[in-house]
Amino acid sequence: MPWNNEFECMPLDELRKFQLEKLKETVEWVTARVPFYRQLFQKKGISADDIKNIKDIVKLPFTVKNDLRDNYPFGICAVPIKEAVRIHTSSGTTGKPVTALYTEKDVNDWSECVARCLWAYGVREHDIVQNAYGYGLFTGGLGLHQGIARINATALPISTGSTELQVSLMQDFKTSVLCSTPSYALTIAEKALEMGIDIKRLPLRLGIFGAEPWSEKIRLTIEERMGIKAMDIFGLTEMGGPGMAYECRFQNGSHINEDHYLAEIVNPATLEPVPAGEKGELVLTSLQRRAMPLIRFRTKDITRFVEEDCPCGRTFVKMERISGRTDDMLIINGVNVFPSQIESFLLDMEEVAPQYRLIVRKRGHLDKLIIQVEANKEIYAHNRAKRYETESKIMSHIKGNLGIRVDVRLVEPGTIERSTGKAARVVDERPDQLR
Ligand code: AMP
Ligand code: ZN
Repeated sequence: MPWNNEFECMPLDELRKFQLEKLKETVEWVTARVPFYRQLFQKKGISADDIKNIKDIVKLPFTVKNDLRDNYPFGICAVPIKEAVRIHTSSGTTGKPVTALYTEKDVNDWSECVARCLWAYGVREHDIVQNAYGYGLFTGGLGLHQGIARINATALPISTGSTELQVSLMQDFKTSVLCSTPSYALTIAEKALEMGIDIKRLPLRLGIFGAEPWSEKIRLTIEERMGIKAMDIFGLTEMGGPGMAYECRFQNGSHINEDHYLAEIVNPATLEPVPAGEKGELVLTSLQRRAMPLIRFRTKDITRFVEEDCPCGRTFVKMERISGRTDDMLIINGVNVFPSQIESFLLDMEEVAPQYRLIVRKRGHLDKLIIQVEANKEIYAHNRAKRYETESKIMSHIKGNLGIRVDVRLVEPGTIERSTGKAARVVDERPDQLR
């Protein structure tokens, strides 16, 4: 039985009616409270009265990440701060982060969505759930935490890192469920091996993984190394965080919490809806959020709807596992990194030429970003110490600004391949990346 049978198994005609009502409410809500949307709607000559059918959503304008940046920090929010109870930000770090604001009801609805996910994965009251998603501004830690509390399971709020402790607490407390990014799960597995502990023999039986793209192959590897079942959870800061979509035991795509999120799939070039079952960009509209509702937010995530009823009985539509992103955003160990951020820094540096290459590799189970950049002739002619100093300068700038550790290699002037058309500056060698 699903956590919330009434909604998760709602007959489709009722569900569409419910969505229509909530969509109209949301459009009215933002028109009254968010100048950004009021102006956009005015420009398009559209109002809530024009939404007569759920398909009329296509008449509404899109929202893109830059709209959120332009309105940083609270310009796109629909309630005064005194009505808000929480602020999160995205891990994305192109200059300013993206803010997510929540009323008490928003936090409650979010917990409900995560509770549905956990319940579908088979988490129950007797479970000890080791939550290794980062607690703090990132939505993962607290997002999962609230869901764990909602279903009355026991949270172990360890957050990310302290890998040895992850393993020993897993053993001491008889953790039955692990939540983390898939790459971190593999790191934990490796650490256990190093410590001489066989996770397969521990009571751990279930893993809840998301926040970064992962493939079926990684799923099988994790399942095999940990002796667990691995389930996918999807979400994004702009829509509140994890818990937007979840797998059921049939694991053929993730059910979208459709009473809270209206999902569309559009062709990223034409922005028209794709034909049924085709791949495209996932576009999401929040239906019940109060502090920061978003209309037709372009996620840049590529997926398709699964065009079949699910034997689990849930009527919520399913989306396939995310297969890539339309933009060039790299996700390095769960942190969003835009090559343009690195480029803009390199271009400002005198010591290097504007010729660079970003190589992303798997080192162990973690992502490693290697920046190859051409030194200018003078620096290159210098001794090794000078080059080393420049490499360190780039490394610490990137650590300080993007929050990720990178390898920097200054290379000889003229050695990076020149392109005659569009430069292919990102080489993603991770086996599971489509880009
Ligand atoms: P953030 O807002 O920092 O949490 O990042 C959200 C982005 O992470 C999404 O737009 C996806 O690109 C990616 N993401 C989150 N969960 C998953 C998942 N289960 N599978 C693939 N990508 C995911
Ligand atoms: Zn199902």
